[in-house]
Amino acid sequence: MRNHLVAELKTKGITDENVLRAIAKVPRHLYLDSSFEAHAYQDKAFPIGANQTISQPYTVAIQSSLLDVKTGDKILEVGTGCGYQTAVLIALGAKVYTIERQLELFKKTKLFFQQMPYRPKKMIYGDGYIGCAGQAPFDGVIVTAGAPQLPQALLKQLRLGGRLVIPVGEGNTQLMHKYIKTATTKFSKSLHGEFRFVPLLEDKEGLN
Ligand code: SAH
Repeated sequence: MRNHLVAELKTKGITDENVLRAIAKVPRHLYLDSSFEAHAYQDKAFPIGANQTISQPYTVAIQSSLLDVKTGDKILEVGTGCGYQTAVLIALGAKVYTIERQLELFKKTKLFFQQMPYRPKKMIYGDGYIGCAGQAPFDGVIVTAGAPQLPQALLKQLRLGGRLVIPVGEGNTQLMHKYIKTATTKFSKSLHGEFRFVPLLEDKEGLN
């Protein structure tokens, strides 16, 4: 089923062989609630609790390709969710620092990572809008929620040559943006199509 998903992603235009290999490796069905397991290898988003969704495989593939991950790269992920995108980055050879703002999801996914072979370097409960200055600079930063505006802190935390991949937009849809740090305060920017994400929210959220 995983190979079938990879074939589908190829027909949709994903060409990055490393990313396709990583997606072929990671057992997406384990990251979903068992009620959705049967659909895990369809190219669709699904609920993961706490009003959040696991990103569609196509979106994971695009963002991972744009991030241009090399083995050993230090990557910051904003929006851990169920940890599927995290696992794909780890399968690509990255050392991943991942931030989640919802305590419920943070706790659930932290326990889950302990049972899985793909584990991040560090999982942080906090507001990814401000990034993670303590661990900066990063080779790449990936944001898996839609940002109304570009969080400046995330640009600052890139090393020279580092990439930021982030969906930006205030309405229901966002445009995928990629920034590359070309000098201390200089960035090149490119756009990569329209997507629909849950919103990137500021501040942490605890248990109600
Ligand atoms: N990569 C995840 C996508 C989850 S949806 C997956 O594949 O499962 C986006 C996630 O971003 C949600 O879990 C949401 O709680 C989280 N999020 C939103 N705003 C955030 C912020 N400011 N800091 C950290 N996480 C945030």
